[in-house]
Amino acid sequence: MKRIFTFILLSLFCTPAFAGEKPERKEFAVAIHGGAGRISSDPGHIAARQAALEKALTLGELMLKKGDSSLDVVEAVIRILEDAPEFNAGRGAVLNAAGTHELDSSIMDGKTRRCGAVAGVRTVRHPITLARHVMTETRHVLLATDGAERFADELGKDKIERVSNAWFSTDRQKANLKRAQAYIPLADEFRIGTVGCVALDKHGNIAAGTSTGGLTNKKFGRIGDSPIVGAGTYADNGTCGVSCTGVGEDFIRNSIAFHVAAQMEYGSKSVADSAHHLLHHPSNKISGGIIAVAHDGSITMPFNTSGMSRAAADSSGLHEVHVTD
Ligand code: ASP
Repeated sequence: MKRIFTFILLSLFCTPAFAGEKPERKEFAVAIHGGAGRISSDPGHIAARQAALEKALTLGELMLKKGDSSLDVVEAVIRILEDAPEFNAGRGAVLNAAGTHELDSSIMDGKTRRCGAVAGVRTVRHPITLARHVMTETRHVLLATDGAERFADELGKDKIERVSNAWFSTDRQKANLKRAQAYIPLADEFRIGTVGCVALDKHGNIAAGTSTGGLTNKKFGRIGDSPIVGAGTYADNGTCGVSCTGVGEDFIRNSIAFHVAAQMEYGSKSVADSAHHLLHHPSNKISGGIIAVAHDGSITMPFNTSGMSRAAADSSGLHEVHVTD
């Protein structure tokens, strides 16, 4: 009798409800960011950001639902945001100290750890697509400036759409450069807008990507964290996918994206604890945000700036977009 009682008690306490952890693995999940920092209070700008993020999230969710690969989703989502002038990526990118645009981007496949990146590109409408071609069509990881432009020439206009450098410019970013060069301090609202996406697909594959114009008034030739695998982007099916935003130099010095995954692998941390720890650890001194999706589909999107535009969806019905906080 005593044994039967113990058995019943044990079975009861071992049910997932009592164990209280291990939420069910999600079939798919997607997280998107539109840059860390305080967003402008202009209602038109807020509405346009909201609409672009909603469009990108809905597309990502639809693609994942029908079984598309996480790599296809990351590229498609980022292409939408590269075309939206409210974000600091593609059209709408910030200007450097010489008054031109130099764009950085990377993408990583968590299944194979293959990755591709481009830095300082000047005429490529969708740097994320060129980064993907570096991954699939070369034996290299990162092509920069003239070499990356030449690679785009070789691929041809059918694969890589080209535009003039001036096509990326917007009045908002021209005004931001003027302010920066007049030594009027830029509130962090003026530099936000880098975009990133992380997705877990129905086949259990994770991919991550990031695309940016960098920092307003950056030195010509400056390369940030976004095209640096392990700093701004990382993906590994065994742990998680990551895309970062913020002051790129901080993220490079601390190899932030890689460390989110490494703490899960070596320290058995959850994805949320890992990202939170890195952002708030006093010795890291980083300013920005992280989005990450774990192998079980759990999503985390912490930041230590006053805001970060972000969006997330998963197979359990989660669908949320935050623009102003
Ligand atoms: N991390 C980007 C860079 O430093 C900028 C950003 O995310 O706002 O190039």
